[in-house]
Amino acid sequence: MKILVINAGSSSLKYQLIDMANENVLAKGLVERIGLEGSRIKQTTADDKVFDITTEMKDHEAAVEMVKKALMDEELGVISSLEEITAVGHRVVHGGEQFSSSVVINEEVKEAIKECAKLAPLHNPPNLKAIEVCEEAMPGVPMVAVFDTAFHQGMPSYAYLYALPYELYEKNRIRKYGFHGTSHKYVAYRAAEIVGKPIEELKIISCHLGNGASLAAIDKGVSIDTSMGFTPLMGVVMGTRSGMIDPAIVTYLVENENMSVAQINNMMNKESGMLGISGVSSDFRDVAEAAKEGNARAQLALDMFAYSIKKYIGLYTAVLGGVDVIVFTAGVGENSGFVRGKILENMEYLGVAIDSEKNMAARSEANVSAEGAKVQTLVVPTNEELMIARETKALIYGSS
Ligand code: ADP
Repeated sequence: MKILVINAGSSSLKYQLIDMANENVLAKGLVERIGLEGSRIKQTTADDKVFDITTEMKDHEAAVEMVKKALMDEELGVISSLEEITAVGHRVVHGGEQFSSSVVINEEVKEAIKECAKLAPLHNPPNLKAIEVCEEAMPGVPMVAVFDTAFHQGMPSYAYLYALPYELYEKNRIRKYGFHGTSHKYVAYRAAEIVGKPIEELKIISCHLGNGASLAAIDKGVSIDTSMGFTPLMGVVMGTRSGMIDPAIVTYLVENENMSVAQINNMMNKESGMLGISGVSSDFRDVAEAAKEGNARAQLALDMFAYSIKKYIGLYTAVLGGVDVIVFTAGVGENSGFVRGKILENMEYLGVAIDSEKNMAARSEANVSAEGAKVQTLVVPTNEELMIARETKALIYGSS
């Protein structure tokens, strides 16, 4: 059984074809600059064959046509007919309150995804476009939508509501949704396997630390709180996003600096976080390098990043009533022992202790806890594509 996983943006489309018999990735590819000059598709197969073409792709329809060509290319492809694709799993960013799990796509689901575009105007429209184009291009192949927000729909109302007039929730659905759900779910389940306990017996804090970053408090396999909010701007310090700030700063800037809403939005999303504080880069490697060379603002950015995550670990330990496992994932979480070490400094009182040698050496899946530590600290590379493929398989064929 081969499942195609699609992650479409406004001008890009990532895909993987996964053989579910052994969960091997047969081919993965990226289409870039859709609708722009210099559109390009690059696909690599498991045996390192590369299909790399720069050709005009004026829309998502043209992009999906090229994906089909690449997958079925006689020399560089991996399948000989579309019939080998048993289902398609689509990443959809926002499922609003309608979706607390993945679903098989039908007209009603597409309508709901369209409805949720109000909440994710940059993401849901290209997600929906890719679904429609794939339906046309692969008639009869079942399609599944896997939402970034779905895993967090288990939050209780006292966790997801903001203390604003209740009517804003009733009328505009303004509440916390959270994101990175597919990643948090994947690493939490994998963490349970690693520690050898059913997830139903575990209190897990997962830390997805990439360019965007969020934490989730996962009780018995259910996300009961998460750091991102109504939008991905909320929570911890990120590459270019501010994370949590006093919202009155926005009104202050409007009134005193004559800034427009668009300018403030851009500043908080694109010019803040590690980039805004360090003045160096949004990339952790650059910031860490600059800090090593004595750049005080780069050091400050790292300190603020680690501090904001430590605070959320404290919060989530409180709401979970303890913690059994802390799991790190995504670009920074998987690769930077330095950052993991800094975040978990002085947390022995909680039972958190890491083996610094193991921690600094870990580059892939690893248990970096110190011998005898009460809390298990793990590094688990995330795999959102595999999670999407598994959810798709479970919906189409049942989980076995
Ligand atoms: P996203 O998917 O949110 O764009 P990623 O999960 O790919 O982000 O993470 C990107 C971040 O990971 C970048 O800031 C990058 O600096 C950081 N990163 C990648 N490799 C390393 C490393 N070896 N050490 C520290 N940070 C790293």
